Amino acid sequence: MEKRPKILVTEDEKDLAEPLCRGLIEEGFDTEVAPTGEIAFRRLSSSWDLVILDLALPDIPGESLLAHLRSQRDYPPVLILTARSSVDDKLSLFRQGCDDFLTKPFIFEELVERVRALLRRSVRVKQKVCCFENIVLDPSTYCLSDGNNEFVLTPKEAAILQLLLGSPGRVISRKELLHVVWGLKEEPETNFIAVHLFNLRKKLAQINRDGWLQTVRNSGLTFAKPEG
Ligand code: CA
Repeated sequence: MEKRPKILVTEDEKDLAEPLCRGLIEEGFDTEVAPTGEIAFRRLSSSWDLVILDLALPDIPGESLLAHLRSQRDYPPVLILTARSSVDDKLSLFRQGCDDFLTKPFIFEELVERVRALLRRSVRVKQKVCCFENIVLDPSTYCLSDGNNEFVLTPKEAAILQLLLGSPGRVISRKELLHVVWGLKEEPETNFIAVHLFNLRKKLAQINRDGWLQTVRNSGLTFAKPEG
């Protein structure tokens, strides 16, 4: 039997949460309701396939829960339910890491289709591992391996390496790195990138890839087999 995707429904309005869960169960999902922010806070984890999050909860703002979820490894996609509908609100929610949202009141069928689309996408993302010269990086688990040894990278180390492995040999500029990995458009005041690169190089050395993460003077970084 196919596994039923598990959805956490964070919604304080009983009149909405109950029919919503009933409907989702009929559509083939397993659901659990978190009626307060505090319960949601305790229940949020990567074990859910998807989280439906009401922004207006009585105790903890939905945005805080979103931030908490995003700080975890391998967090599930988040579909936000909100009464706010201005373009600014929508942009702000995407920037905070929501994957999709619906404005209340919504049509149940639309919610189900959005849930299915998010789940399809997240399965694809999970399966997309990066490989180069026997190095394998799984971006969903941050696991780096050369077939013999395996190391878990930090989320930032994994993001840096994912970017580099995506186009081996290409020089990635510092600007691109800052933008893709940290979402920064401006040069930061401290050189925090150096620490991440130092640690990443140490882990690469442990799988005999010493010198593969190369600094290209005045240009940026590249990932390639060292010459000689
Ligand atoms: Ca509410």
